[in-house]
Amino acid sequence: MIDVKQPLLQIKNVCVDYVTDSGNARACNNVSFNIHPGETVGLAGESGCGKSTLAFAISNLHSAPALISEGEIIFEDRDVLKMTQEQLRSFRWNETAMVFQSAMNALNPVITIGAQLIDVVLAHKKVTKAEAYAKGEELLKTVGLHPSRMESYPHQLSGGMRQRVVIAIALILRPKLIIMDEPTTALDVVVERDIMDELFELKDKFGFAILFISHDLGLMGEIADRIGIMYAGKLVEMAVATDILDNPKHPYTKGLVGSFPTIHGPKIRLEGIPGSPLNLLETPKGCYFQARCQSCLDICIDHQPDFKKLKSNTERYVACHVVEELEASL
Ligand code: ADP
Ligand code: MG
Repeated sequence: MIDVKQPLLQIKNVCVDYVTDSGNARACNNVSFNIHPGETVGLAGESGCGKSTLAFAISNLHSAPALISEGEIIFEDRDVLKMTQEQLRSFRWNETAMVFQSAMNALNPVITIGAQLIDVVLAHKKVTKAEAYAKGEELLKTVGLHPSRMESYPHQLSGGMRQRVVIAIALILRPKLIIMDEPTTALDVVVERDIMDELFELKDKFGFAILFISHDLGLMGEIADRIGIMYAGKLVEMAVATDILDNPKHPYTKGLVGSFPTIHGPKIRLEGIPGSPLNLLETPKGCYFQARCQSCLDICIDHQPDFKKLKSNTERYVACHVVEELEASL
């Protein structure tokens, strides 16, 4: 079991609420999982299920109206939620780095790529400007860009090139964890493939762990060691990537996997998931997936299932009464 190693990050019972006039929407609901050093963990689920909210919470980057109302986020042995502003600043650069959904627009349009890289290097390392420039060039080469791009403005770069610059900036301080929230969603598949290949070469070299958020289960299957599936703010299943894709257990995971085309498998009719995602302001008493679940039992109406380790596969966690009953009958 992967858990024998000391985890790099422990997310423990984290709840994040958006405080709105019409009530509190719990966008992350009692989420718990670990990330180990060097591991790639994928997080998937329909739009609005709380993936980005969790990504922000991990580095304590959330801001009003989001509020972390419960839980702990332990990085190595420190609670991120209890860090002072100064500790947080150092944590966010030195130990984790973020590549967010809107990363392509994260670059300042009126400043050259070089000046932006130099700024970050100078802010965090005691080096001269010339050394910072050289470091910037080296970083561009690391992500497959020509050093002459130091003189370019963001608009002179393609979307893929800008995303490489953002990854270069994320890597400046050799973080132990990189959180990537749909980093390649806006790119075409060929560019996406190149960037992912390079990212994983860098990962082999530097050994960082990755939390990779995406709705693309196909891509995730290729890169993730484990995959977690979220539904309406809850983690409903987490397992080794091949187990999730080849043998999903939770009815929602089954639906999600069934609605994705496979490149290598036989051509089959894709199913999709009937119904629409839950309104977080009107959550039911029992299982949040009950209205869309084709296997719904009586117990599912009134009792929320616990996120539990399976007896038959101790690396797999599922929150589902149906799966629990099946397991009990084994
Ligand atoms: P995902 O990244 O999985 O698409 P998000 O984390 O962005 O999901 O959003 C989770 C839920 O939180 C959504 O249902 C969304 O409507 C709600 N939410 C996000 N931002 C806000 C906000 N600023 N105010 C109120 N609700 C929000
Ligand atoms: Mg998101």
